[in-house]
Amino acid sequence: MNAEIIAVGTELLLGDILNTNAQYLSQQLAAYGVDVYGECVVGDHPSRLREAVKLALSRADWVFLTGGLGPTADDLTRETVAELWGRKLVFDETIWQKIADYFKTRKRTPVESNRRQAMVPEGAAVLKNRCGTAPGLHLEQDGHHIILLPGPPHEMRDMFEHEVVPLLEKATGCVLRSRVLRVFGMGESEAAECAGDLMDGQNPTLAPYAKDNEMIFRITAKAETAEQAEAMMNPIETELRNRIGDVVYATGETDLQTVVVEKLLQKGLSVATAESCTAGGLAEAITDVSGASDIFRTGIVAYHNETKEQLLGVPHELLETHGAVSPEVARAMAEGIARVAGADIGIGITGIAGPTGGSPEKPVGLVYIGVWYKNQVKAFEFRFAGTRAQNRKSAVRNALNLIRKTVDEQMFL
Ligand code: ATP
Repeated sequence: MNAEIIAVGTELLLGDILNTNAQYLSQQLAAYGVDVYGECVVGDHPSRLREAVKLALSRADWVFLTGGLGPTADDLTRETVAELWGRKLVFDETIWQKIADYFKTRKRTPVESNRRQAMVPEGAAVLKNRCGTAPGLHLEQDGHHIILLPGPPHEMRDMFEHEVVPLLEKATGCVLRSRVLRVFGMGESEAAECAGDLMDGQNPTLAPYAKDNEMIFRITAKAETAEQAEAMMNPIETELRNRIGDVVYATGETDLQTVVVEKLLQKGLSVATAESCTAGGLAEAITDVSGASDIFRTGIVAYHNETKEQLLGVPHELLETHGAVSPEVARAMAEGIARVAGADIGIGITGIAGPTGGSPEKPVGLVYIGVWYKNQVKAFEFRFAGTRAQNRKSAVRNALNLIRKTVDEQMFL
């Protein structure tokens, strides 16, 4: 099976936006073993688009187009393809109802031009759009296939995953499954070293990616059935977990704060935060997760030393002797907030976010995170080397990870 990709949109030609749709489609098709023979970008111009589709069809069995399915006059992909294959456009009442419902739930009214999105070339199969109004289309003729996908990347990807993948599985006779292992507390190079020979395989494949202060390992397997693909991934996952141990905090589509909140809910534990350099970043991350109200007691931004004393009961002498950025103060903040809030777990964060405020003894990026749990308190030192924003974000992510480890009983025995 071979394919070509055509991205439609004058804004792509002008360089206003990057053609990430083609990148995504190329990666996906390559994973299925589909040879991509060519990619091109065409403006919103019917005759040039028509020529591009004709050329692509002369070289490839499958042609994927993205963009130009919207309601405005310059969205011409549907009409151009229908005309090229001599198909009449027919109004589809079911699609129109879906578009009308989409507007209704948003308390808006569709305009006349939206009706264009309900026009379907005769004989085409409709690909559902779960994220927007423009449906995709699949046309087949003389052994050739044309797939029309919407331009907005999130709509295009969702449609590809849910509507196009089954077509590809049928055409290629193989299914692709992947599994994501989320890792915190290990850099990309260290993780790649641990994975070592596991990354040499062709099927299944194992690849590490760094993302947002975290690492992701993606295992991908190709097989005749989904069950076979899943079974092929199991030994790789088991071996990887043996090698990298407890730094894997989750599998699948989730994130650290969601995992933390879920674990706190499961164990029935509450948390409270006292933050200096992150100024509420940890409280925000926790409360970003739905259900946080059952586990989050309170968060105090204790920026000034007097606030640390008055609201958290941090002893004046501690601040005088060790300074605000010290393990002693981080511990006192954690204990103070746990007692003030009556929480099971107290977190105290103090550090130097930078770029100013550092010294040879206490450089920019030095952060202490205190954790109070079961009448014990510990402080952990971190040395970050990023910008102010990055250091603050790293502190928040590490605090979340410490909560996770506390709830998993890995830190206080
Ligand atoms: P809409 O209903 O939003 O008009 P559409 O299918 O007609 O959808 P376009 O109008 O072509 O799509 O594009 C909508 C937006 O999607 C663009 O402004 C751009 O932000 C994004 N987009 C379009 N094509 C691409 C592409 N190839 N790569 C990345 N983003 C794209």
